[in-house]
Amino acid sequence: MTSNLNRALEWTSPQSQPLLLGALCFLALALFSVAVWPKLKLLRSARSAERCDRVFERIALTLKVAFGQSKLMQEKGAGWMHALIFWGFLVLLFRAAEFFIIGFFPETDFSFPASNVVFVAYAWIKDAAVLLVGLAVCFALYRRLVLKPQRLTLSGEGLLILLLILAIMVSDILFDSAFLALHPEGHSGPIGMILAPALGMLGENILGNLHSLAYWLHTSSILFFLILLPRSKHFHILTSIPNVFFSNLGNNLSRIDFDEEESFGVINSKDFNWKQMLDLHTCTQCGRCDRACPAWATDKPLSPQQLTVDLRDQLNGPPDSDIPLLGGIIEDETIWSCTTCGACEAACPVMIDYVDKVIDLRRGLVLTEDRYPKEFTAAFKSLETQSNPWGFPKTSRSDWAKELGIPIWDKTKPTEYLYFVGCNGSFDSRGKKISEAVVQTLKEAGVEFSILGNDEGCTGDPARRAGNEYLFDMLASANAETFKEQGVRKVVTHCPHCLNSLKNDYPEFGATLEVIHHSELLQKLIEEGKIIPQQKAEENIVFHDSCYLGRHNEIYDAPREVLNASTKSSSIKEVEQSRETGTCCGAGGARFLLEENTGTRMSHHRLDELMVNEPDTIAVSCPFCVLMLEDAVKAKNLNVQVKDIGEMLVKKN
Ligand code: SF4
Ligand code: SF4
Repeated sequence: MTSNLNRALEWTSPQSQPLLLGALCFLALALFSVAVWPKLKLLRSARSAERCDRVFERIALTLKVAFGQSKLMQEKGAGWMHALIFWGFLVLLFRAAEFFIIGFFPETDFSFPASNVVFVAYAWIKDAAVLLVGLAVCFALYRRLVLKPQRLTLSGEGLLILLLILAIMVSDILFDSAFLALHPEGHSGPIGMILAPALGMLGENILGNLHSLAYWLHTSSILFFLILLPRSKHFHILTSIPNVFFSNLGNNLSRIDFDEEESFGVINSKDFNWKQMLDLHTCTQCGRCDRACPAWATDKPLSPQQLTVDLRDQLNGPPDSDIPLLGGIIEDETIWSCTTCGACEAACPVMIDYVDKVIDLRRGLVLTEDRYPKEFTAAFKSLETQSNPWGFPKTSRSDWAKELGIPIWDKTKPTEYLYFVGCNGSFDSRGKKISEAVVQTLKEAGVEFSILGNDEGCTGDPARRAGNEYLFDMLASANAETFKEQGVRKVVTHCPHCLNSLKNDYPEFGATLEVIHHSELLQKLIEEGKIIPQQKAEENIVFHDSCYLGRHNEIYDAPREVLNASTKSSSIKEVEQSRETGTCCGAGGARFLLEENTGTRMSHHRLDELMVNEPDTIAVSCPFCVLMLEDAVKAKNLNVQVKDIGEMLVKKN
């Protein structure tokens, strides 16, 4: 910022200058409004979504993710580049205001003394911002034109935006330098002071023209930028901060009121709620979600980025188009390819949600269009009649426990914990071994627990994730009623899908339980000295994070602590794709019920990642991951064992 804002321009008189600038501003704002108004109208008429709760948490998240650029900074190079442009723009907002003030008040003297610390400091910070943004844009151009990373598509629009930013930076420097060359008694930041003497040799006439050119290039580039924003993916510049603020802080799958609502799920982008629509307007098409997606990595017809673009194009497209969204713009298989693992959401720098949209689209397919993979027909029937997806008689649910002497929950003598076993742990032959290991460990630690026996039913997780909300509602209501009747308060489960459903889905059904994963309980028991691992295993171990334990419930440390206690810590090796960036085994989102006929198997892909460390044992904290990875091990004929962390603690007799 220079010391004197009264800077008459060569090309215009003091009378015509505000008029010309006013006309340009009016035109730009009119064109901006024409493009933004339809989007706003859609947002205003969209379904509601409660996103104004927990305000302080939202502010903290916005400061961290939006202003701190925390997610982008995880990626070196491109992350820094984007962050510098963002922070630079924040600084340069004041500079833009200065330019417009100069234009509208050409005869007003806004001089400030050269000793004014605030203005001098801003002049230096502004010049640093101009320099860093300019360098970041040059790097961005180099990446797009020379390095050409796979996830970036070279678009004319992207190049135009970068060139516009560069024009704004260059004109900023020229404006100050030319002014200072014309008025050596004036003040500016360091760049102007360095360049002004060199420009001085151009003569007054050229300098005057250069000064005017820089001014009009700067202001018209800003206004052109404004016109382009709502017509391009760069609309995210306006929407990303609110999108982060209103992002999902917990479970964002909501119950359907089957008595009140007329249509179920989403069959058109206009059926989404306002936050889901805001998501669609916010995508920067950076491709980070694609790189994280296990379906995309294994050649399924699902690119999360493309899904967003298709949904957005339909949202912004003509309302009377004949092409249906489902089965037209988006193939059904795209929707069924998702494992709801959340890796795309964890990778997205602007906090775009995918899982809720995929589930809403599945609800549209199942409940409104009555169209779903054939494997689901039998699974839905079994869930409805036997309360498990495989059709085992519900009266045999607790058979696995017959010889183990586990008490059945008695509401007159409740135990501290209810052990919720889940369908896998009750019926699957491999799953039953995990349940037995959990029981043995809890008993040895003296934990008071019991099971619901045949009164336990499927949580409904596979039905909900498969889009059959009606069936889920039925199953969840039945279990919630049982919990209420039986006075159940504390639940332990070894299945992350049960944990997630009971903890996050059930409160809407009136069941507010304290739900913990067995890894959390085992960690506590080890810390209390109630479990003393017998022999520390020596083998090489890798740990595979379950998506529903890790990303969906942020439980990363407890299973690792249990492993550390039961093995030599030096024998545990993390693979690159672990914790928040762990890759799905392919079972989530009810995909364990589906054949995987397209591309390579997700479980094989995950196993390849885990085998990089040449482990003897793959430790897992989810019975579905155990099944998927064991199948992959068999198919690949590898010599590695897959064990639940509960099994790692069991005493070997
Ligand atoms: S939730 Fe997982 S499988 Fe689905 S789109 Fe995102 S990354 Fe891909
Ligand atoms: S959804 Fe997020 S991660 Fe994916 S392309 Fe858009 S901005 Fe990038």
